[in-house]
Amino acid sequence: MKIVLATNNKDKVKEIKAFYKDYEIYALSEICEPFEIEENGKSFKENALIKARAVYTKLCELGLENEFVSLSDDSGISVEALGFAPGIYSARYSGERATDASNREKLACELHKLGLTKSRAFYTACIAVVSKFGEFSTHGFMYGTVINEERGDNGFGYDFMFIPDGFDKTVGEIEPKIKLEISHRSRGLALARYILKSLSKHYK
Ligand code: IMP
Repeated sequence: MKIVLATNNKDKVKEIKAFYKDYEIYALSEICEPFEIEENGKSFKENALIKARAVYTKLCELGLENEFVSLSDDSGISVEALGFAPGIYSARYSGERATDASNREKLACELHKLGLTKSRAFYTACIAVVSKFGEFSTHGFMYGTVINEERGDNGFGYDFMFIPDGFDKTVGEIEPKIKLEISHRSRGLALARYILKSLSKHYK
């Protein structure tokens, strides 16, 4: 059984490939021309399933559904002082043309407006798997504190502003291998291993 990732996000692809060393993993761009998927769900789970289904449909069109399953990650950060925003809108927090840098700037600005330099926050990742045997999903979380400044060069997105519980450094400052042990994504992927292990028994 092979896995195709229903994402064009290179940072996610890197982390998922590093976590699942024992599986044959393909980026979406390795099996087809990348295409846009409209994420109009109301939860991480709905969006994760929308992405994994869209890629599974593509696998069927290509006649690859007996070889591959599709796996997606929908994730984001929820900040307590901001009423748990941006949540599912993390990628587009600063607007349609948002970049990771403009999203971090907006987050710092929103904290500043409230006169805060930090807030409790958590990351969520929903991992969805779509296969010829059905659809499955898991969740993983990482709790900590967001700060109004950026520190470190590792990771991506909001990592330079997020200090996980039990650490005094941002995710940007800790080794990528440590992030791989504690992240929301890794926790969701660890649970999804049980699904993949069961499914793999039914593929060549
Ligand atoms: P998605 O691709 O629609 O799931 O959007 C995920 C967004 O959430 C990314 O663009 C990042 O801004 C943020 N995000 C998710 N996971 C992480 C992470 O591990 N580190 C930093 N930011 C993340």
